[in-house]
Amino acid sequence: MMIPDSSNEMAAQRVVDGLCRQYRLPPVSVFVLPAPLQYREGDVDVLNGVWVQYYCPQDNPYELSPYAIFLSDCLWWDTEVVRFHVILHEFTHHLHHLKHGGKGAMHGVLFRRLEKEVCAIFGLEITHKSSGYVKDIRCKK
Ligand SMILES: [Zn+2]
Repeated sequence: MMIPDSSNEMAAQRVVDGLCRQYRLPPVSVFVLPAPLQYREGDVDVLNGVWVQYYCPQDNPYELSPYAIFLSDCLWWDTEVVRFHVILHEFTHHLHHLKHGGKGAMHGVLFRRLEKEVCAIFGLEITHKSSGYVKDIRCKK
């Protein structure tokens, strides 16, 4: 199975729009940022993507949706499958929060089950590390 085009910001937005329709979720705006994303909680982590909910409308610089996915353009140096998986991973945070109230740990059992389900739509089979991050991604034929 071919994974859909995610070669630019608009294509990534289309993938996420399709998933929001399929899961009947409010839309989420996708932005590609020209730098690695940094996140500080204890240690500083460099992230490939992040899902954000704007709780206060005044904090929301984008009026399109109170939800946003930011992707690092560093991802575009990676393989298509890795990039596509990051898009699905961030969408899974949207699904986890809006359909399941973020129940359990951020990358806990429920999240991992949802992520597997979302990946399977596109024929991607993933396995997780004990940290909750992805260990391996395979394209099922
Ligand atoms: Zn995550």
